[in-house]
Amino acid sequence: MKTQTVDAILNRALTGTDISPEEGVALLKQTEPAAIAAIRQTADELRRRQAGETVTYIINRNINFTNICEQHCSFCAFRRDDAEEGAFWLDAGKILEKATDAVRQDATEICMQGGLNPQAKVAGSSLSFYLQLVKIIKDEFPQLHLHAFSPQEVQFIAREDGLSYADVIVALRDAGVGSMPGTAAEVLEDRVRRIICPEKLDSNTWLEIVETAHRLGLPTTSTMLCGHIETPEEQISHLEKLRLLQQTAIDRQYPVRISEFILLPFVGEMAPAPLRRRVGRDQPLLADTLLLTAVSRIFLGNWIANHQPSWVKLGLAGATEALKWGCNDIGGTLMEEHITTMAGAQGGSCQTAEALQAAIHSLGRPDRQRDTLYRPLSVLSAGC
Ligand code: SF4
Repeated sequence: MKTQTVDAILNRALTGTDISPEEGVALLKQTEPAAIAAIRQTADELRRRQAGETVTYIINRNINFTNICEQHCSFCAFRRDDAEEGAFWLDAGKILEKATDAVRQDATEICMQGGLNPQAKVAGSSLSFYLQLVKIIKDEFPQLHLHAFSPQEVQFIAREDGLSYADVIVALRDAGVGSMPGTAAEVLEDRVRRIICPEKLDSNTWLEIVETAHRLGLPTTSTMLCGHIETPEEQISHLEKLRLLQQTAIDRQYPVRISEFILLPFVGEMAPAPLRRRVGRDQPLLADTLLLTAVSRIFLGNWIANHQPSWVKLGLAGATEALKWGCNDIGGTLMEEHITTMAGAQGGSCQTAEALQAAIHSLGRPDRQRDTLYRPLSVLSAGC
């Protein structure tokens, strides 16, 4: 596509118009430095208008309660079989210890997800097991926001217990879950899913569960696992599905919606060999990730204002660079990250609030601590 045409797409985006999927694909296929620079500048300008100059961050802690999982996603270095070396299952005391430590470090959020273990039941019920996890944290720390259990985990509980997705979501919500991570989305294209996560819920089921969560008052985030076998057309199709999902939440006046979009580039260093060989590299390509970051802002920003890079996958320097390509949030302290770190990511598994603030300040932009739902908080600090 000529630079002239790229300029026309970018100028239309700057008037506040949504670009079409074809236009999104055209932007992703640019290779000329001048065109890519123009895409970056447009994304940065739209970020300024849609989300402001301030870069936000959250003090939070990840808790992965088990890595025992019945599925075998081809990008996953985290999962283990029961009794396999390295398999773990945290008991209530350990979970509470981690939550206590998080509170001591001023965390406002616990992000909790885990493998899919059919043996994880209380009195024969998977839902009861998950409700018990919620209770361990909320009984002790009712003020902590629990960002927990992906659409895949909701589908797993529903299947195990013969419940509807709505039944599971209402039970988790009423027990104290405050929001649902938009993980397990990977790429919302079933051709891709059949290769990288054939046992996972399909695209339509992911969309159905997230829409059900919005209808029932449980906000969600959204993600994309990029940089493996997907095409630019499939990347844009994924963004288009998220855009439509958010438009549905608004049109139908659901009480809540998607709060943020997070781009998660594939890290393959320790991933199972077949996908790693097919992709042909171990670490994300920063240039490709940044272009997709910018196009995601241009394509989605009218509907999802908050965009976050992954410092775990890109390193803090890469994530800081992404703040110039359309992102307005640098994510959380995490305190311990296992899933990507076990895949060979070089970004580390925790950050201090001061390190995130320093990264933001290096761009001459102000920082602000936020809660899970992007409400401002007073500045605190957290170590790791
Ligand atoms: S990505 Fe999740 S569902 Fe897939 S194998 Fe790993 S832990 Fe299991």
